[in-house]
Amino acid sequence: MRRISVFGATGSIGQNTLDLIARAPGEYRVVALTGGANIVQLAADARRLGAEVAVTAYPDRLDELRAALAGSGIEAGAGEAALIEAADRPADWIMSAIVGAAGLAPGFRALRHGTTLALANKESLVTAGPLLMAEARAHGATILPVDSEHSAIFQGLVGEDMSAVEKIIVTASGGGLRDWPLEALPMATVADAGAHPNWDMGQRITIDSASMFNKAMELIETKEFFGVAPEKIEAVIHPQSIVHALVGFRDGALMAHLGAPDMRHAIGYALHWPERRDLPVARIDLAQIATLEFYAPDLRRYPALGLARAVMETGGFAGSVFNAAKETALDGFLAGRIGFMDMAGVVEGTLDAMSSEIRLTNPPSGLEDVLQVDQMARTRAWAAIETRETA
Ligand code: NAD
Ligand code: MG
Repeated sequence: MRRISVFGATGSIGQNTLDLIARAPGEYRVVALTGGANIVQLAADARRLGAEVAVTAYPDRLDELRAALAGSGIEAGAGEAALIEAADRPADWIMSAIVGAAGLAPGFRALRHGTTLALANKESLVTAGPLLMAEARAHGATILPVDSEHSAIFQGLVGEDMSAVEKIIVTASGGGLRDWPLEALPMATVADAGAHPNWDMGQRITIDSASMFNKAMELIETKEFFGVAPEKIEAVIHPQSIVHALVGFRDGALMAHLGAPDMRHAIGYALHWPERRDLPVARIDLAQIATLEFYAPDLRRYPALGLARAVMETGGFAGSVFNAAKETALDGFLAGRIGFMDMAGVVEGTLDAMSSEIRLTNPPSGLEDVLQVDQMARTRAWAAIETRETA
C-alpha cells in the first residue's frame, strides 16, 4: 500500500486530493493530514481515511483537535514543530498544499527522505526554487508539479529534450475583474475580486487571479521548476481556461494541453505518475466549446506581470521578497487597508526598499536565509501599506 500524507488537507487542493484517495480505498495508507482552524473537517477526514496523525497549524487548537479525535487512536499534533515531525514520517507520496510561505518548511523537510513531493504550494518555488530543486536532487527525491499550468507543461515535455524548447506559454483566465473598465479597478472590493469565472479555489488564490499575482508567481515557478530562461516564458489571457499551457519547440511546433478546469486532473496526474489512470473529470467537447480565445495581457491592468519579469531576471532573494510582499499586500487588501490596485505598488515599493538593504541577486545559502528575508520583507511591506493609508 502506498503511504500518503496531505499537507493543507482541509483546503481546496487538499480536499480534491482526499476525494481522489477516498475513491480507491485499500490502495493508500494515509499517514498525516494537516490543516489550520477547521478542526471539525480535519478530524472528520482523519477518521474517515484512518490517518495515523492529524496536525493543526495552530497550537491553541490542540485540545480541540484531541477532543475531536478522542477514541479513534489517531494522534494529534499542533504547530510548526508538529508539521515538521509529520513531514519526517515515512511516506511514498506527499501533497504540499498549505497556502503561502508556511508551506515551504514542511515540503523542504519531506524531500530529505527521498519522497515524491506533489507540489501545489507554488510559494515554495518562488521563494526558494534553487534550494528546493537542489534538496530534491541531493536526496533522490522527486518533485511533481500540481499547479494546472505546470502539470500541463510537464506533460507537454514527456519524452522531449529541454534544449529543443523555444518557449513556454502559461494561460491565464484574466480573473474575476477581467472585463471591468481599467478606471474601476481601484474600487474593486474583496467580494468583487474573490469571485472566479472558471475555477473554484481558495479565497487568496482567487484574488491573486484577479490581480494576476497568481500568474506572476506561476511565471517565476516555471523558471525555477523547468530551468528555463525568463525571456522564453510568457503569459497569455485565455478566458475559457481550457488550454492550460503550451510548449513551443525549435521546429515551430506548439504543444497545448487541454482539459476541464478541475484541479483533480493535475492532482491525479501527480498521484498516478508516471501512469495515467481514470479520473473523475469532465471531458472536453470541442464542438460544444466552439471558440477558444487568446490575447495579450495589458500590463496597466496587471502590473504584477511586469514585476514578475523583474524578479525572474534578478533571481537570488527577489522571489522571496516578492512573495512576502505580495502575501502582505493581500492581507492589507483583505483587511480593507489598501485598494485592489495598491497591491502591486506595495510589492514594488518593498522590492525597492529591500534592494537598498541587501544584495537581492545573492543566492540564499539555506532556508534560514530565505525565511529571514521573508520576515524583513513583510515588515517593509506593512510600512508601505501604512504609508499608503496615511497618504
Ligand atoms: P486553501 O486556502 O483552500 O487551503 C490552504 C490549506 O493550508 C488549508 O488546509 C489551511 O488549513 C492550511 N494553512 C493555512 N495557513 C497555514 C499555516 N500558516 N500553516 C499551516 N497550514 C496552513 O488554499 P488552496 O487554494 O488549496 O491552495 C493551496 C496551495 O495550492 C497554494 O499554494 C496555492 O497557490 C496552490 N494552488 C491552488 C490551486 C487551487 O485550485 N486551489 C491551484 C494551483 C495551485
Ligand atoms: Mg495555476
